[in-house]
Amino acid sequence: MRSDYGCSSFTHCWYPPLDLPVIPSAAIPGAAAQNSGDDVDQRIHLLDLDVDQLRSWLVEQGQQGFRAKQIWNWIYQRRAATFAEMTDLPKKLREQLEQHFVIFRASEVDAVCSSDGTDKLLVRLFDGGEVECVLLRDGIRRSICVSSQVGCAMGCVFCASGLDGVDRNLTRGEILEQMLRLQSRLHPDERLSHIVMMGMGEPLANLDRVLPALDEARSPEGLGISPRRITISTVGLPPAIDRLSKHGVPYNLAVSLHAPNNELRTQLVPVNKRIGIKAVLDAADRYFEANGRRLTFEYVLLGGLNDSDDCAHQLLGILRRRNVMLNVIPYNPVAGLPYVTPSSKAIADFKDILVSGGVNVMFRQRKGSEIDAACGQLRRNRQSV
Ligand code: SAH
Repeated sequence: MRSDYGCSSFTHCWYPPLDLPVIPSAAIPGAAAQNSGDDVDQRIHLLDLDVDQLRSWLVEQGQQGFRAKQIWNWIYQRRAATFAEMTDLPKKLREQLEQHFVIFRASEVDAVCSSDGTDKLLVRLFDGGEVECVLLRDGIRRSICVSSQVGCAMGCVFCASGLDGVDRNLTRGEILEQMLRLQSRLHPDERLSHIVMMGMGEPLANLDRVLPALDEARSPEGLGISPRRITISTVGLPPAIDRLSKHGVPYNLAVSLHAPNNELRTQLVPVNKRIGIKAVLDAADRYFEANGRRLTFEYVLLGGLNDSDDCAHQLLGILRRRNVMLNVIPYNPVAGLPYVTPSSKAIADFKDILVSGGVNVMFRQRKGSEIDAACGQLRRNRQSV
């Protein structure tokens, strides 16, 4: 983990800094692209704009404003990746759009598909940063798991995403581009049904871009996915959880707990040292009060570390009086890390204690494990070849 992003260098704050750099798009008025060498495409990333911003641009160019919705429909519903496909637009306008904007600004450097219907993409951003995103097919569900940052600053010891720290926040457009790239892998009759912000990075450390991207994802003119089918997963940053509560859109909140006491949680999730479980639970409770959405707690089960009967009983003490779903995820091994997946018996025993204590427990299937689908693993494994 890179120490320059850790809390240690920010003595005045008790939670990780939320102001990481983002590479601004030329689309944002007054913002010039950083890192803009001669080889970088200077066109505006259209996905950084909302439909009103595109409408203003069109009107400035002497075009009709209604074209904005037409273009949005092509991109978000009809899955167009180029302006050339937008055949009901005048040819001159298509050429003008092509000169000023790019729809997909990144490139796919790897795509791996697993026999259980999981596709994982490794996407290279215009500045060389790489992030992962995943499409999961499960019955009629078509869920996507999307990244919010290049790397991660949270330093969870078992997670591949944060092993090299964090480089930067993703832009609105880069978050949406992952969604559109995954959507384009579906059969034309299939629709995306669920979004989870559970890829690389800490979404609550990049809310300024995650929330606008999700606004587009839930907008009827965008992807049209109900916020009730969108989950934001967080390590648990109380001020940002409170901001999300005030935002007032009923997204599902998943809190990565991973341990039932401060000593163990700080060992597994180092940012816990400055925050503490109580502050995380209180903020989660406030989110539930504000939105009425049942909370999810995530618990990665690590053999011999947090899978004991004692841990299960302590966890029961925390969760039994709360209206929550506990999502237990058997550890997905990361090459080079010393952690192990618990035995089937240890997993079953852990589950029994919680279920018999009245907690709603879901044991996440390891979909996509054959293609390194846990966060950050594909990127990591490619770096080491
Ligand atoms: N930063 C956010 C979202 C990204 S991680 C968060 O902490 O919630 C999404 C989930 O995957 C988290 O619960 C994380 O702890 C879990 N995870 C990370 N690496 C894993 C691994 N190797 N095996 C199983 N789960 C993992």
